[in-house]
Formats: sequence, C-alpha cells, structure tokens
Amino acid sequence: MSRDSKLHRWHHRMNFGESLYLGEIFRGMGITMGHLLRNLFWTKDMPTVQYPEEHRDYSDRFRGRHRLMQREDGTEKCVACMMCSTACPSDCIHITAGEHEDPSIEKYPETFEIDLLRCVYCGFCEEACPVDAIRMDTGIYEIAGTSREQFYVNKEFLLNNNQQGTL
Ligand code: SF4
Ligand code: SF4
Repeated sequence: MSRDSKLHRWHHRMNFGESLYLGEIFRGMGITMGHLLRNLFWTKDMPTVQYPEEHRDYSDRFRGRHRLMQREDGTEKCVACMMCSTACPSDCIHITAGEHEDPSIEKYPETFEIDLLRCVYCGFCEEACPVDAIRMDTGIYEIAGTSREQFYVNKEFLLNNNQQGTL
C-alpha cells in the first residue's frame, strides 16, 4: 500500500453511524458478556484458581520455604559447618555452633535462624550443604506475616516447616 493511500485511510471521515460508536460499543459488550458467561458456567477452563481455598501445583524444582532435615532419632542433621551461611548472598542465615555430646558428631546448631525477609530464594544454601541438612523442597510459597519478627524463623520452626500459611 502506498504512503498516500495509507494517509487517505487515516484521514477517512466517519459517517454519522460510525461516529456514534454504537457498533463498537455493542461489539465490546458482546465480548465482555461472552467472557462473563464462559467464566460463570465453564469454571474449570478458567486460568485463575479460587485462592486461598485452591492452590496451584508447582514444579518439583520450585524453591519454597526452607526446612531442616532430621536424623532417624529426630535430631537435626545439621553439623553447624557454616557452609550455607557462607554461601548465602543475602547474609540471612545465622547459626550458633555447639559441641555435640556424641563424639562421632563434632558440632550441632545451638541456634539456626533464617531471616526470610532478606532471603532471595536462590538455593545456594541447600547446594552448599555437605550433609543434605537444609532443603527448599517444601513447596511452601505462602510467606506472609504481620510483623518483621515473624519472618525471623528459628531451628524449631525449620525442623517442622511443612505447612502452607502465614508465619
Ligand atoms: S535461599 Fe539463598 S538467600 Fe535464601 S537463605 Fe539460602 S542462600 Fe540465603
Ligand atoms: S545446614 Fe548444612 S551447610 Fe548449613 S551449617 Fe548445617 S550442615 Fe552446614
């Protein structure tokens, strides 16, 4: 199409019927009503879910809220080597190491805290751990709370971190 004919189309003067925009208004209303009826009667085709009653399935590779792994006797697997806190780019893992009473286990975390507000969910901590003591495979993505302190989670929380929901 030549430049002149394009300009001609752009400068096309609308007739009276077109200038009322009624046809376009009804066409738009028709599309809106079509979506409304489809969403009312064919809900399973809707791209949205009824959150929070319904949750989406996330990929197995999704990095959710952390958990600390336990040995068979229920004690923490962590040996307080500090590899995770060293690897953490956000400096949000704080561990106090204590001497373990079992001489075959050198150390254990007296305290193990993660500041979830600083965490960027990069997964470096679980990759750095030499004994698979910290994982992010909980699938938990609901990380909400009403105060900053709630996001500072401790060892007891991390050992039993298996529930969606607010902190
Ligand atoms: S996921 Fe990344 S930012 Fe979060 S605690 Fe682990 S290493 Fe730190
Ligand atoms: S969670 Fe793993 S990397 Fe972190 S201190 Fe414990 S044993 Fe070391």
